[in-house]
Amino acid sequence: MCGIVGYLGSEKASDIILSGLTKLEYRGYDSCGIFFHDTDNDRFITYKDKGRVHHLVDDFDYQYNNHLAIGHTRWATHGKPNQANSHPHFSLSQRFGIVHNGVIDNYLELTTKYLADVPFSSETDTEVIVNLIDYFSKTLAVEEAIRKTLSLLEGSYALLIIDIVNPDILYAAKNKSPLLVGVGSKGIIIASDVMALVGYADHYLPLEDKSVVTVSKTENQYHFELKDIIGKPLPTTMLEMNIVMEDIGKAGYSHYMLKEICEQPSVIRKIMAMYLENGSSLPDKIIQHFQEANRIYIVAAGTSMHAGFVGKYLLENIAQIPVEVFIASEFAYNPPLVEKNPYFVFISQSGETADLRSSLVWVKSHHYQSLTITNVPTSTLAREADDFLEIYAGPEIAVASTKAYVAQVAILLLIAYQLASRKPFDIHVELSRVAVAMDAIIDRRDYIQHLVRDKLVKHNCFYIGRGLDYFTCLEAALKLKEISYIQTEGFAAGELKHGTITLIEEGTPVIAVISQKTMNHATRGNIREVQTRGAEVIVISMSDIHDVTDQIVLMDVHEYLAPLITVIPTQLIAFYTALILERDIDKPRNLAKSVTVE
Ligand code: GLU
Repeated sequence: MCGIVGYLGSEKASDIILSGLTKLEYRGYDSCGIFFHDTDNDRFITYKDKGRVHHLVDDFDYQYNNHLAIGHTRWATHGKPNQANSHPHFSLSQRFGIVHNGVIDNYLELTTKYLADVPFSSETDTEVIVNLIDYFSKTLAVEEAIRKTLSLLEGSYALLIIDIVNPDILYAAKNKSPLLVGVGSKGIIIASDVMALVGYADHYLPLEDKSVVTVSKTENQYHFELKDIIGKPLPTTMLEMNIVMEDIGKAGYSHYMLKEICEQPSVIRKIMAMYLENGSSLPDKIIQHFQEANRIYIVAAGTSMHAGFVGKYLLENIAQIPVEVFIASEFAYNPPLVEKNPYFVFISQSGETADLRSSLVWVKSHHYQSLTITNVPTSTLAREADDFLEIYAGPEIAVASTKAYVAQVAILLLIAYQLASRKPFDIHVELSRVAVAMDAIIDRRDYIQHLVRDKLVKHNCFYIGRGLDYFTCLEAALKLKEISYIQTEGFAAGELKHGTITLIEEGTPVIAVISQKTMNHATRGNIREVQTRGAEVIVISMSDIHDVTDQIVLMDVHEYLAPLITVIPTQLIAFYTALILERDIDKPRNLAKSVTVE
C-alpha cells in the first residue's frame, strides 16, 4: 500500500525516483509527488497531485540536474486525495520536506501540545511530523531533532526527510511500515519495496523498527549511517540483491496478472525443486512445531485466508491435526481461547500485512510459537515470527494475487504431507501432474475468453461448490470482484437454498466447481435447483467425474491437490471479464497490494 523512494548519488535522482514510483504503483495509491534539489540553481522543486504516476512522468520537466530527490505514492488515510494532501509536505518555515507512508495515531495530541500556532496547509497527519522536526531543530541538531520527533510519534511510518539547508544529506526512518536501504556503485536508494531498488542497488538492508538512517556524501562517495532511536549505531549487514529487471517486467504479456497466471506451473516446479528434490525438505524445526502443537491457528486475510481454508482441510484430512482459521483483522481484537500448545501460522504474500502484524504482536506477547508463510523473505512478518517458509512464487506485481495463492496452497500441502504418518499419494508424482494440468488449462485460455464473452458479463455472479471446492469458490468470487467490480459471492453449494437463492433470476450467472467424487451428485443437484430458476450455469469439473455438458473440464489430479487446478480457470474468467469491461486489471480501484494499514 503506497510507497516512498529517495536517492542521493551521482546519477540523476529524479529519473531514479520516477522509475521507482512506477515500480511501486502496483502497491496501490491515489496521489503521487516528487521533491528534488535543482543543483544548477541551488533550489528545491516540487511536483505533486492526485492521480497516476504516468501523469507525473508526462508533466515532469526533465531539464534539471539533480542528485537528491524523494518521491511518494499516497494511499490517503487522513484527508481526501487532492493536491494539498499529496506528499511531500513541508514545515512552516519551508526548511524541511518530508514524504511519509503510514498513520500517526497521536497527531492531534502532538499538534495541541507543540504546534498550536502552526497554520497547516493539508489535512494529513504527516504535516505534524515535519513541523515537529522543524520545531525541535531550533534547539537541537537536525539528527537529534528527528530522533526527538520520532520518540513522540505513536503509529506507523516510513519517512524520507530533506533539510534544504544541506542538499548532500538524506534522512530516513521507519516504524512498522517497511523501508529498505539499497547500496549501488553510484549512490544510495531508500524505498519501501525492494522492487524500486532493482537496477540501482547491488546490496540492500531491510530496516528494523525505530531505526534512523543518515545518507551523506563525502568526496564524491555516498554512504549511510544506521542508528536506533536513541542514537546508538546499529549493525549494517547487507543482503545481496537477488531480483533482476527481467523478473519485474511483463515478458511480452499484456498484463502482469496474465503473466502471473501463466507462471503458475513453473511456480509449482520451483517449489518442488526447493522443498522436495535433491534431498531437500521442509525444515525439521517447523515440522516439529506442528507435531508438538495440539492445535494450529492460521491467521490471514483475503486471498491468503482462502489458502488458509484449503490448508486447514489438508492438515486435518492428511495429517489429522486440528486447525482453525482466523480473519487477521478480527483476531487482534477478538483472539480465540487458545489450546495448551498452539502453533500460529501467518500467511501473507507481502509479509507486511498490518492486520497480521498486530496479531503477531499479540501472539508474541503470549510467548506462543509462530510461523510466517510468505513470498518475501526479508519482510517484517518473516523476520518477526519464530519460523518462516518462503513460497517461491517470484515477484507478484498484479494487485490481485494468483500465483502466490497457489504457492501458499502448495506449501500447506507439503506441510500436511510431511506430517502424515501414512502418505496417501506420491507427492512428486502428484505435484508434477498438477503442473502439467495447469499448463493444459492455461494453453486453452482462448477458449475461456470466448466462454466469458458469450456468457458472463453481468452485474452479479455466484460461484458454488462443496468441500475443497467451496474454498476455491470463495477465492474465485474474490478475484472476480477485485478486478471486474462485478458483485460475486462464493457459496457452499448446499447453503444457497437457505436464503440466497432468492437472488437467482433469469440469466444470473452461476459457476459450479466440482472436483471431489463424493460431492459430485449433491452439487449437481444444486446446479439443477438454480437452473430451474433461470440461472445461466457454467460447470468446472475434473475429467473423471465430468458430465458431457460441462464447459470446463480439467485434467485429473488427486482430489487433495484439485484446489491448485480448479482455481486456474476462475482466475482466467476474472481476467477476461475485466478485460472485456476495460478495467484497470493490474491496479484495480481502491485496492493495494500490500495492505500496511489496519
Ligand atoms: N497518513 C498519510 C496521509 O494520509 C500517509 C498515507 C500513506 O501511507 O500514503 O497522507
